[in-house]
Amino acid sequence: MSALHTYSKKELMNLITGKLRRNFGRDVEEATSLHMFKACALVLRDIINERQLATEDRVSTEHLRQVHYLSLEFLMGRSLMKNAYNLGLLAPLTAAIEALGFSAPDLFETEPDAGLGNGGLGRLAACYLDSMTTLEVPATGYSICYELGIFKQKIVDGQQVELPDDWLGLGDAWLIPKMDETEEVRFGGKVEDVWDQSGHHVKHTGYDTVLAVPKDMEIAGYATQHSNVLRLWDAKSPTPVDMGLFSSGQYLKAVEQQAMAETISKILYPEDNHYEGKSLRLKQQYFFVSATIQSIVRKHRAEYGTLRNFHQKHVIQINDTHPTLAIPELMRILLDEEGYGWEAAWHIVTHCVAYTNHTVLAEALERWPQQLIQTLLPRIWQILIEISGRYQQELTDYFHGDLSKVAPMAIIWGGEVRMANLCVCACFKVNGVSALHSDILKKDVFHDAYLRTPEKFTNVTNGIDHRRWLSECNPKLDELIRDCGCGEYLLRPDALQGLERYKDDAGVLSRLGEIKAANKRSFAAWVARESGVVLNTDAMFDVQVKRLHEYKRQLLNVLHIISLYQHLKDDPHFSFTPRTYLFGAKAAPGYAVAKKIIRLINSVAELVNRDPACKDRLQVVFLENYRVSLAEQLMPASELSEQISTAGKEASGTGNMKFMMNGALTIGTLDGANVEMHQVLGDENIFLFGLKAREVAEMKQKGYKSYEYYVHNPDLKRVVDQLNLGFGDGAAYDDLARRLLFGDGGPADEYLLLADFESYRDAHVRAGQVYLDPTRWNQMSLVNIARSGIFAADRSIRDYAREIWDIPVRA
Ligand SMILES: *Cc1c(COP(=O)(O)O)cnc(C)c1O
Repeated sequence: MSALHTYSKKELMNLITGKLRRNFGRDVEEATSLHMFKACALVLRDIINERQLATEDRVSTEHLRQVHYLSLEFLMGRSLMKNAYNLGLLAPLTAAIEALGFSAPDLFETEPDAGLGNGGLGRLAACYLDSMTTLEVPATGYSICYELGIFKQKIVDGQQVELPDDWLGLGDAWLIPKMDETEEVRFGGKVEDVWDQSGHHVKHTGYDTVLAVPKDMEIAGYATQHSNVLRLWDAKSPTPVDMGLFSSGQYLKAVEQQAMAETISKILYPEDNHYEGKSLRLKQQYFFVSATIQSIVRKHRAEYGTLRNFHQKHVIQINDTHPTLAIPELMRILLDEEGYGWEAAWHIVTHCVAYTNHTVLAEALERWPQQLIQTLLPRIWQILIEISGRYQQELTDYFHGDLSKVAPMAIIWGGEVRMANLCVCACFKVNGVSALHSDILKKDVFHDAYLRTPEKFTNVTNGIDHRRWLSECNPKLDELIRDCGCGEYLLRPDALQGLERYKDDAGVLSRLGEIKAANKRSFAAWVARESGVVLNTDAMFDVQVKRLHEYKRQLLNVLHIISLYQHLKDDPHFSFTPRTYLFGAKAAPGYAVAKKIIRLINSVAELVNRDPACKDRLQVVFLENYRVSLAEQLMPASELSEQISTAGKEASGTGNMKFMMNGALTIGTLDGANVEMHQVLGDENIFLFGLKAREVAEMKQKGYKSYEYYVHNPDLKRVVDQLNLGFGDGAAYDDLARRLLFGDGGPADEYLLLADFESYRDAHVRAGQVYLDPTRWNQMSLVNIARSGIFAADRSIRDYAREIWDIPVRA
């Protein structure tokens, strides 16, 4: 490949002013920051586009195997700074923007986050796109071009209020519509078998068509000419209006069908780790999967003229079960459109589709009602019956008719289609996302499938884009790493290990402490500007940011804060390390308990922050609208990372990795990737507490009684009683107390908060003691950064490429 062409500040200024003139008809003097942002985006887009065309040429002339990463979510965040960074243009672009009379940081801040995802799963997909591109893997991401991304959160009177996230006004600067690559997706109708001279055909009639228009976002890799595409499908009606109805005066009805088609890409479902059997959601899934598979097949046919080698040239990675219909959809095309027999089609499909499992939570497992699929996707339904029937026969033979083995593995059962079982049946690889999680899949969730086909099951521990989450968002730390001679970590994340040479170097340790202090001050300044809240930067920043979910146990954190508050009130000389507690979390709008916990955090914050007894010692702040761009400012300023889920419930976590890479220490359970963090850190560099996954299972087995912890621990009793009494703002939390003690419908204290409370408190005492010794704290912090390299997404992508995709990567 040719050397990277680079652009000077002067050249960029010319390109930007050119865009302002041609696209917006104005000179720099008349340009608003919105025009300026769009002009910059268009300039970078052109540069990436050159590389994209070259990449497409190379992939096609060298007939490379390609990855297709299907995900209903890509939580991309902002792109201007990211693209400039990856293109090596951050410095000249910043200079160009400033020279044109704008503030570069302000301009970067005007970009809306592309919030096409809920949390960890969508952010993972975004990090993987960056790594696949940087590692020169020929890859395409596919999703839906949601008009409204994850809702914006406001806190009003302590409670979450949701506002629409209308991101496209500015965000579409990065999107390139490809009208000529539109695909047609069919819903409903009837299927019939037809026999004629040429044999058996399936005839589909009376269906509704929805058009899928691709909006491509081109992705620049870091220090490479390679570029990849994120293809976002936009739903359009094939008929703008029904003129028949229109001319008969039925105007509303005339545009109804159009509106129906376009609701498919209207909005992202805001449930994280939770299945909702809604028909619009199924439509979204099939819409995006059908358009994607058709598009891959069309390009393949154009290049090779046959689908015989399809599985050799493509691997389709499905991110959780949401894109599972890719399996019957590819079968449909091979059978009905390409004329393959069942066996030949099945061979192709089962050699190119791989599945990543993301959760073991029962409420998150997708089980679609058979009736819904039958009506909405009649041909897909027939194919599902055939897959399911054949699989069940194989299982029955294998288990000698033992129904107790066959039933849990069946695909269609009790009127439902179980998507995870379909994936396990059809995919050539199934991976979990951390060592512990993959182990649980083998030992528990998919145990019998594992015994039958052990070679299918593997682990790829999640990772994060360390360029975004360290060097781009924490430039001071990046500079320290370079000064320590570890500059090559950008392409070799393991090189961070070199930092460990400095673990007894007083100069480096104090500089690390100063960097954290400076980052805390800038974060506090930003919070003050945004919300007027003044953070105490002298206190330890103790942070829990992630989606609000009972299994993530934000409530355990709050119970502990209430207990600290009670101790402070009892005894003004109570010795403890001052803390500023920061929370950030969106709750799914229909998840009442999660919303109640947000309200509780705000009630406690209100009480604590205005009590003089807490001044300079205890502060609690709920940060509104947690999102990627907020996380980018917060991670560099964080000191203690709360990763406190009930062991066995968090598949991996990736927030934990962002904190670690930015030098925060972790207080956490042995859950998800925390287990691997502990493995590299040792007991002495992490604050572990709580039951292990095995102990949780045993305790549940024996019959867990939260009430006994309440009765036997007076401090804990007092905290739970406080929930019943409230916090002086009129809000009642007796429902949360009942949930912990009696269950309120479900099992009491399902996530074992009370069982882990004492151990959690001990861990906090240990963390507080270490914090009083800055040298020791900074040393632990340095060790955390130095050993975080394995949590780079580059490592994950190398694992996928080697273990699953069988694709070479950049050396
Ligand atoms: C990384 C990230 C997450 C995932 O956090 P976990 O702690 O792993 O659940 C969620 N939301 C945003 C905005 C993130 O950046």
